[in-house]
Amino acid sequence: MTVLHYTRSTMLLHADRILGSEHGAVHAPVHLSTAYQHPSARDLVAAFQGTRSGSVYARQGNPTTTALEAKLAMLEGGHGCVCFSTGMAAIAAICVSLLKAGDHIVCSRFLFGNTASLLKTLELMGVEVSFVDATQAAHVQSALRPCTRMVLAETIANPRTQIADLRRIGSLCAQQGLLYVVDGTLTTPMLCQAADFGASLVVHSLSKGISGHGNAMGGAVVDTGVFDWSRYPNILERYRKGSPAGWGLLQLRKKGLRDFGASLRAEDAHRIAVGAETLFLRMERACENAMELASWLQQQAEVKTVHYPGLASHPQHQLSRELFAGRFGTLLSFELQDGLDLMGFLDALSLVIVSTHLADNRTLAIPVAHTIFHEIGAQARASMEIADGLVRLSVGIEDINDLQRDLGSALARCRA
Ligand SMILES: *Cc1c(COP(=O)(O)O)cnc(C)c1O
Repeated sequence: MTVLHYTRSTMLLHADRILGSEHGAVHAPVHLSTAYQHPSARDLVAAFQGTRSGSVYARQGNPTTTALEAKLAMLEGGHGCVCFSTGMAAIAAICVSLLKAGDHIVCSRFLFGNTASLLKTLELMGVEVSFVDATQAAHVQSALRPCTRMVLAETIANPRTQIADLRRIGSLCAQQGLLYVVDGTLTTPMLCQAADFGASLVVHSLSKGISGHGNAMGGAVVDTGVFDWSRYPNILERYRKGSPAGWGLLQLRKKGLRDFGASLRAEDAHRIAVGAETLFLRMERACENAMELASWLQQQAEVKTVHYPGLASHPQHQLSRELFAGRFGTLLSFELQDGLDLMGFLDALSLVIVSTHLADNRTLAIPVAHTIFHEIGAQARASMEIADGLVRLSVGIEDINDLQRDLGSALARCRA
C-alpha cells in the first residue's frame, strides 16, 4: 500500500478505484468464482508458490476480499491483512496457527466471552493461559513465564468497559520480544491505531463497528509490521521465505485460513467495505451519543451506576483519554437501583432494540448476566465484575433526543 497522501477517511472512499479499478467500477466487484485461471501454467505455479499475486481458490481469498484487506491494512497503517468469516474465526486462526502445546499466553480477564471460552478449549489442547487484570501492565508482567509466546488484550472490554494499559503492555512485549495481539473491535481504527501501542497483530470483528449496518459478518487480522517474526519460534521452516515481515501473515493465511476454512464470502466482504465507507462519520456520532447518554443516565434516580470510559468516575478515564484521543467508544453499561424491575425496564423500551450484537447503527440493549454471560456461571461473572442487574447499551447513531426520551420513559415505567 503506497498511496498514503490522502487521509484515511478519504482513502476508505476511494481505495478500490485508486488501487486498481476493474472496468472503471468505483467499488471492487463481488467475485463469486471459486476457481481462477492464470495466463499460463507457469503463472499458476507462481501463484501457488507465492511469487506472483492472484487468487487460486476462493477459500484462500478472492479479489473482493483482497480489496477489503488492502483497505483494512491501510486503516491500521499496517503492511498486510487476512480476512475471515467472523471475528471469532480470526482470533481462533491466530491461536491455532501461531501457538502450540506447551506455549503460554497471557490475556485480559475481562476478555470478550467467546474469546475466553476459546482459550479454555486451547487449555485442553495443552496451551497454558493466564487471565490477568490488564488495566495495569504490571499484572501482565508478573504473569510472564519462560514459555510465554503471546499477550492478548482488548482496547475496551465488553460489557464493563475496562481499558487495557495498552501502551505499557506494548513496551513490555517489545522488551521481552513477545507477540502482542490487540483486539480493537470496540475502538475501530477510528479511535486508535494499535500499532502506536506496539501491537504486533490487530484483530477486528468486522461484524461490528467497521461494517456498522449489522448485515454481514467478518473478521480481520492486520500485521502492523512492528513484530520481528524472525524471533518467533513457531514459524514453520516452509514459511520462512523472503522478508521475515511477511512470515506471520503467510503462516496465518495458510494454517489459519486455508486449513481451517473460515473464509469471508465475497458478498459479505462487499457489504463490509460499503459499510466501512462511513466509519468515521458513524463513529463520531455514536461516540457523541454514548457520551451524552452516559452522563444523562448517571443523573437518573433509577440508575445506580454507569460504566463508560468518558465519565470522570471511570477508573481508567485518564488512561482512555491518553489512548483514544478524547473519544470513548460507543458501548456503555449500567445497573438499575436495587429492587427495580430489570426485565420490565427492557420491555418498556420501544426505540432501543433489546438484542445482542454491538456497534450497530441502531441502539441495542441487553441484560448481560442472563444472556451472553449466562453460560459461564455466577462465580465467573463475579470475577469479571458483572452484576446480575447489569444492562449493556450499544449506542447507535439515532437522534440523541429520541434515545433519551425512550430510555427516560422506560425508566419512569419501571419505577411506577
Ligand atoms: C464480537 C466480538 C468478537 C467476535 O466477532 P464475531 O464477528 O461476532 O465472531 C471478538 N472480539 C470482540 C471484542 C467482539 O466484540
